[in-house]
Amino acid sequence: MSMTHYLKNLRVKNLKKRKEKNPDYPIASWIQDDIFQDKTIGKSLTIILRTKGCKWAYDSGGCTMCSYLMDASPVEITSENLKNQFDRTIEKNLEVINNNMSIKLFTSGSFLDPFEIPIDVREYIFQKIESLGVKEVAIESRAEFVTSENMESIRKNLSCNVEIGVGIESFNDTIRNVSINKGVSREVIKQAFKISKEYNVGIKSYILIKPLFITEKEAILDSINTANECIEIGCSRISFCPATVHTGTLIELIWKKNQYRPPFLWSILEILKEVKSQNPDALIMCDTSGVNSKRGAHNNITCECGEKIKEIFNEFTLTQKIEKLDVDCECKKQWLSYLDYEQKNIVPLGDESLL
Ligand code: SF4
Ligand SMILES: [Zn+2]
Repeated sequence: MSMTHYLKNLRVKNLKKRKEKNPDYPIASWIQDDIFQDKTIGKSLTIILRTKGCKWAYDSGGCTMCSYLMDASPVEITSENLKNQFDRTIEKNLEVINNNMSIKLFTSGSFLDPFEIPIDVREYIFQKIESLGVKEVAIESRAEFVTSENMESIRKNLSCNVEIGVGIESFNDTIRNVSINKGVSREVIKQAFKISKEYNVGIKSYILIKPLFITEKEAILDSINTANECIEIGCSRISFCPATVHTGTLIELIWKKNQYRPPFLWSILEILKEVKSQNPDALIMCDTSGVNSKRGAHNNITCECGEKIKEIFNEFTLTQKIEKLDVDCECKKQWLSYLDYEQKNIVPLGDESLL
């Protein structure tokens, strides 16, 4: 059975559990503290639009860590629905929206894919945002949709800073396309960087920390190399995403067999320190969703350093200060022996391997 066939079957089983939700409301929206491209701090409004979902996930079973399709709508979402989702959220937050703010429009897929967001809706949303006069706009998209045509449709409507979050995940082709099943070539990624630059649109590189089938040590090295390469070819920022075990994914299946362990927080600290010290001017962030839980990145789960380190990741993201990353704990020794022990093994270890 091919990988695509296997992943698609896994996906289809889970998709039956999706529930129909009101198509006129987004999946979620919230306001938070954030850091802008120029490293100043302000607020951002995030809107997760409810769409049909990621086409790559329908066609190929999708990426091995991703369960976004579970949030997508099992019923048709019309242009009208999408406009309502956006308008309602803006109306609700109108009082707090100002010119030192960013609006982040995510879809749990690709905002620039007309399969999810028809072009008329995209332009309607951009024009409304332009009239609000915010400082920055962020969207997310797979690399193949960062085309000249799409960049033109952005620049025709938006004069502010624009950033596209692109899942680079890893610059190692085998890790990206076999471990992660991303289905994006190195050429397409490089092209996306080149084209976005021509239109003065930034690329926020999402990097997955610890995909399947590699050891903890290999994961550390891969994330460092990937970040360095993204910075070298000119991303506007790096956003590290420590892997979390989501329902219905291949990662979950293998995690349940105790052949996968989400990354240690020590590994993430190491990656952040290394990349920041090599690139002091680069904007480097770390996502903390899922961090310090059994299914997310964690150290010894019973040790109290977990919450503290999660807070350190948030502080580092906002301040960009490398000294924030200096932290120590007794349980660091367990991480060091895990790294050592796993390298002597022939397959990556699960969570309970040292018990
Ligand atoms: S990670 Fe992105 S491209 Fe991959 S399946 Fe999820 S939404 Fe689609
Ligand atoms: Zn500890």
